Amino acid sequence: MRIGVFFRLSLLASAAATAACWTSPTARSPEGPINRDNRPMNFSNTNTANAANANRTPSANSNTEMSEKKGFAANLPADFEQPTDDVGRKLLREYGSVFVARGVNVPLKVVFRDEPEVAAFQGTMRTSAASIGGFQLTLQAAAMDALRTATEQAKAKGLVISPRGADSAKRTYNETVALWKSRVDPALVHWVKQGRMTTADAERLKGLSTFEQVKEVLRLEEQGIYFAKDLSKSIIYSVAPPGTSQHLSLLAFDVKEFDNAQVRSVLNENGWFQTVASDLPHFTYLGVKEVELPSLGLKKITDSGRTFWVPDV
Ligand SMILES: [Zn+2]
Repeated sequence: MRIGVFFRLSLLASAAATAACWTSPTARSPEGPINRDNRPMNFSNTNTANAANANRTPSANSNTEMSEKKGFAANLPADFEQPTDDVGRKLLREYGSVFVARGVNVPLKVVFRDEPEVAAFQGTMRTSAASIGGFQLTLQAAAMDALRTATEQAKAKGLVISPRGADSAKRTYNETVALWKSRVDPALVHWVKQGRMTTADAERLKGLSTFEQVKEVLRLEEQGIYFAKDLSKSIIYSVAPPGTSQHLSLLAFDVKEFDNAQVRSVLNENGWFQTVASDLPHFTYLGVKEVELPSLGLKKITDSGRTFWVPDV
């Protein structure tokens, strides 16, 4: 399909240039003093909420379906809301690997609608907070445990694994909205000036809920009306559409040393993989060994010597 092909080519073309990992250019101040000098991790303060959803069995559990369980869709949680529109399906293709992660809580929909929905989801999981590289960061407990092990193994090899910034792990919905607006609002002004949209169209789009606005913006981009900062490519290379970030699931970690192949290897050995081809510092906790990823319905894509595991759909 034309859009799908275009989208994939865009991803590859922009992979090298886009290393921002959806990080705000106006990074929020961490609670403690900033120290980017590879300070060792200080893991602490594990909070335990209910973990009832962890280790959920995937869908397709009858005997007749067992032989088909290798597919991506069959490995999604049983109560996962499959997207029914093109935008939702596109987002599932691009960011969906996290939904088949094991031993952790994963969202049951592709896009969270608002802050209360995200907060409710984040309240269902076992979390663990740690001071890492001078930043206080929070992940799901299993993900933090694996990161701790990876860090120790890295240290034994003379390597360091540290976060890129204060927003390298958990994020809230509202944190992603402000950044989204910082791209969308100036782009609307531009496209009205160019005569590609009317003022009324732009005002109508601005008046939508963020949830509806995401769909509308991605639809406009299919017509070449782009919302990235330089207006030449999709906004998803600049910021995460609110409600879609894997950081909302506390299963993503942006790694400062992402260029180091040995660092990537140690992370891979501990369940952390790259799953978003346009986002080089971004790692996703999937909770299994690399050899098991194909059986979750993920496929391997290699680009510039890096390995990404994406939904095989
Ligand atoms: Zn990230």
